[in-house]
Amino acid sequence: DIRRGYGGRVTAETIPPIAVREHTVDAFVREFLRELNFGQGVDLTRASVNDKYLAMARTVRHYLMTRWLSTLRRQSELQAKSVAYLSAEFLLGRQLDNALLAADLEDIVTEGLASLGIELDELRQAEVEPGLGNGGLGRLAACFIDSLATMNVPCIGYGIRYEYGIFQQTFVDGEQVEKPDDWLRLGSPWEFPHPESAVTVDFGGSVEQYQDDDGVVKRRWVPGWSVLGVPYNYMVPGYESGRVNTLRLWSARATRAFDLEIFNSGDYAEAVRAQTFAENISKVLYPEDSTPQGKELRLQQQYFFVACSIKDFVDQVLPQGFDLHKLPERIVFQLNDTHPVIAVPELMRVLVDEKGWDWDDAWATTQQCFAYTCHTLLPEALEVWPVELLGRLLPRHLEIIYRINEEFLEELREAYPDDELRVRRMSIIAEYPVRAVRMAYLATVAGSKVNGVAALHSQLLRDKVLDDFAQHWPEKFTNVTNGVTPRRFLKLSNPGLSGLITEAIGDGWVTDLDRLKGLEPLADDAEFRRRFREIKHANKLRIADVLERRDGIVVDPETLFDVMVKRLHEYKRQTLKLLHIVSLYEQITTGRLALADVTPRTFAFGAKAAPGYVMAKQIIALINAVGRTLNEDTSLEGRLRIAFPANYNVTLAETLIPAADLSEQISLAGKEASGTGNMKFMLNGALTIGTDDGANVEIRQLVGDENFFLFGLDEPQVAEIVERGYQPSAYYETNADLRRALDLILSGAFSGGDRHTFEPVVANLLHEDRFLALADFQAYVDAQAKVDVAYADQEAWTRSAVLNVARGGFFSSDRSMRDYIDRIWHTPPVSPS
Ligand code: PLP
Repeated sequence: DIRRGYGGRVTAETIPPIAVREHTVDAFVREFLRELNFGQGVDLTRASVNDKYLAMARTVRHYLMTRWLSTLRRQSELQAKSVAYLSAEFLLGRQLDNALLAADLEDIVTEGLASLGIELDELRQAEVEPGLGNGGLGRLAACFIDSLATMNVPCIGYGIRYEYGIFQQTFVDGEQVEKPDDWLRLGSPWEFPHPESAVTVDFGGSVEQYQDDDGVVKRRWVPGWSVLGVPYNYMVPGYESGRVNTLRLWSARATRAFDLEIFNSGDYAEAVRAQTFAENISKVLYPEDSTPQGKELRLQQQYFFVACSIKDFVDQVLPQGFDLHKLPERIVFQLNDTHPVIAVPELMRVLVDEKGWDWDDAWATTQQCFAYTCHTLLPEALEVWPVELLGRLLPRHLEIIYRINEEFLEELREAYPDDELRVRRMSIIAEYPVRAVRMAYLATVAGSKVNGVAALHSQLLRDKVLDDFAQHWPEKFTNVTNGVTPRRFLKLSNPGLSGLITEAIGDGWVTDLDRLKGLEPLADDAEFRRRFREIKHANKLRIADVLERRDGIVVDPETLFDVMVKRLHEYKRQTLKLLHIVSLYEQITTGRLALADVTPRTFAFGAKAAPGYVMAKQIIALINAVGRTLNEDTSLEGRLRIAFPANYNVTLAETLIPAADLSEQISLAGKEASGTGNMKFMLNGALTIGTDDGANVEIRQLVGDENFFLFGLDEPQVAEIVERGYQPSAYYETNADLRRALDLILSGAFSGGDRHTFEPVVANLLHEDRFLALADFQAYVDAQAKVDVAYADQEAWTRSAVLNVARGGFFSSDRSMRDYIDRIWHTPPVSPS
């Protein structure tokens, strides 16, 4: 009884202990039924699957609550330095299994539900994954926060709670059709809304000059309109760490001022319009991947979430009266790509305009508080915001950016007095084709560190994309190779293999992935290899079942699973893979290749195209068309089949990747920053066929040439060919197989005889081929022939597959986090209790 025990006054000494949930089947069943009856308002006999799922999810989260609350309590006592991971995307995937793992509840829940006649697996399927990201970048953010919680490092993830996540992809006659991702429709048991802690974010208006109390002339923002940001908290539980960190996603609401104005005006339609306008900000995730769309709404989203986050951190997370001069001892804001970079002028505005600091002081502090991760090499993906737009939406921020730039250019002119060209090249403001702010440059100038995401990528950043900056500040640049969480992408997604690994080397690998090295000797153990193969086969059966139920696709588990899953982008070169398939098909149907000599393969694709990316959508249609033709051609006797399930997402990745034999990582060298899919395949025992690009380079170095199918031009060769003037048609003319494959597509063989349907795809390859697919065709086909030979020797293949797992420990996101901590953040672990 709180009244008796604490006398109605809660002080630091009398603070009530946090309730601990009993870890037994009985206790779980009690809690579950209570949630079902009192939370959901139904009784068991009338409960729908969704009722049961929601009640179970809430029950599971109770078990993590003690840890979450004590982590928060401890953090507010200790005020340890934290990471604030600012990211426009967190592609979390389903939450239930991860929560069960963290709470160590799977057995209890399975048994408890079974005692009520409920199958856990059925409830699992009811969870809709929150698709709050496009692909690699968003999934990386999710892996990183998982690792930090597991490693006991204080972190708060800040992002946007999009009402609609990445679109649901469907195929209609083989063409991509997008549907809205209404992921919140059936409830979202993993989030905790806190409308009472909403913050106000301003936009528009103008800047005015005024005199402060001491008569000093200053400038300040007079905003034109504002919205509210409502925080939604999500638990980020560590694995066996006892820590639960927080992910705080912001949702936009209309302010009360809006309501009042509307009320007074009596114009109901206008009232609704105003509300919709405000709430649009967090309505939908932009479905672009690696190219920004210059939309005003996108800039609004970016400013919205970073302004909310900075205000939240300064006003709510920090204790009252905190001396902001000590901010760098308490926080580092990590900028996940350029999307959150407007946080830099925002922090300056808060310090200078709101807190009254002088400029130099504020700039010195700001520079220590930010670090920037660059995720691209494609020039078109480097975000720029036209000055006209920025000035209209955020006039004071534009002024601040101008001043940052002025002082930066002054510094440069001193350093390079005879090199005005260099100074202009490095300006944060681009003058052509329109005056615009280069967000990557702003981040580089402001950040204490700038990192690329794989060794090759970081080197190319230094040598090419940001070369002037790297010469000016060599010490600012560093590399942190990406990683993936072994909890979700091995332990949970591949229970067969993780069981085998644990049996062989113990379970320490789950938090210390380097221990996988202990598997190396077992690559030579025939019995271990047999079991490894058996697990791969079981995983193929599992995905075959999923594909049949989910998509009506039939695959043959006895074939080589050759998998290419990632966003559809020309630089990733799904067309190269398709040309290989079409060429095989052409050779078989013309009798130049005997069916008996063809390794039976299932070619699995998964890829969404940005809705406005016409070429990518045509390529999807072509893959589906080729798939339909091959799958229906009985003369192939099922030896070559294409499986292209729609709507590739994290949930599908979790069953597809463990079944793969061959991982397709075939981007043009110098274009893929890192890739993370490549790491997931390696850790699940697939061999990679890949170019010398992104993290493939490190994968190959670790696993050894003999366990990796390398092909294609390397980055310097690409640069040389492009320099000389690349002529794709020359490859068409000199390579007969390539010509026949392209001609077959042009002949209408995959489009019911219509020669025009796929003409744009072929024409683009023949006349432009920006990513040199034709130049790499022969090398790719040759490497695939080596795959066939290698796969024929199942013992040797399995040996390589085991070595891929054994040597993949480096790609744990725990290692990435250690690198960030050592090189950038300097945030030591803190015990959560
Ligand atoms: N999409 C999803 C659902 C993923 O899980 C991943 C990463 O594995 C990606 C996209 C990124 O794939 P890649 O690194 O191959 O581009």
